[in-house]
Amino acid sequence: KSPERYIGRFAPSPTGPLHFGSLVCALGSYLDAVAHGGHWLVRMEDLDPPREMPGAAERILHALEAHELHSQRPIEWQSRRHHLYLNALEQLREKSLIYPCGCTRDQIRRAGGHRRSDCLQNPPSLATPSALRFRSEGEEEHFQDLWHGAQTQRTAEDPILKRKDGLYAYQLAVVVDDIEQGVNCVVRGADLLDCTGVQRQLFRALGTEPPTYGHLPLVMNETGQKLSKQNHAEALDDTRATGNLIQALRFLGFHTPAELSLERPRHLLAWAAARWQRHQVDQRNRLLDQKH
Ligand code: GLU
Repeated sequence: KSPERYIGRFAPSPTGPLHFGSLVCALGSYLDAVAHGGHWLVRMEDLDPPREMPGAAERILHALEAHELHSQRPIEWQSRRHHLYLNALEQLREKSLIYPCGCTRDQIRRAGGHRRSDCLQNPPSLATPSALRFRSEGEEEHFQDLWHGAQTQRTAEDPILKRKDGLYAYQLAVVVDDIEQGVNCVVRGADLLDCTGVQRQLFRALGTEPPTYGHLPLVMNETGQKLSKQNHAEALDDTRATGNLIQALRFLGFHTPAELSLERPRHLLAWAAARWQRHQVDQRNRLLDQKH
């Protein structure tokens, strides 16, 4: 059997423009895919209209273009893929792996975590708005992360797959799309390490082997928080693509010779892809310019 081709992805949510933290994720996932002879794709995770910022999706795509990080497949938009999420819920329903639940996170925690068994035995009436939860295995989940090594995770709470307000949840859509797009290596920010165990269970529940996972270090700000759209990280300046990429490359452990600052983004990307080594990435979260 010929080895399967690596398919990786970058999957931003359009809650704000790209910042340095998201550039590091885009770049790290791109380089890891290209260096392994893979394909890299971009997927817009526009699943949650109330959290979106108008125009952010277009700005993100513009920024990726400016940095010459081109998706090697047509860009998919989660807002146009609801039929796939519905279909996956049907599959899980047939296997009795989802149940309605109106409990809050706090109620579950107070009841001892994981799930409220009374929701399984006495489902809330159809008249009460309730979420649909995945009936997770409840066992410890073991896996290897490319940078964080051996992981053991236990789900604190059965994840919501469809929210009380009717929106499909991130955990469902991300797994359904990774399956449907054939993604077999997920390289993303370390803020998502904790939800990997349950995503692996969801892959198996949907009949697919989970991909390989690697979680990249987060870029922090001066106050020790990760750069994020929620805490208003500064947007990337698309007119300085080469300089931005050089900073992101340094963060990922490259020593970048001064001449590179004269190169076009695409030459920088080719230079870096030819030299990418996973072990050169320091997994610690830190400020952008901190020496390590
Ligand atoms: N859309 C998610 C985010 O922007 C990332 C999903 C993922 O990479 O699994 O945080």
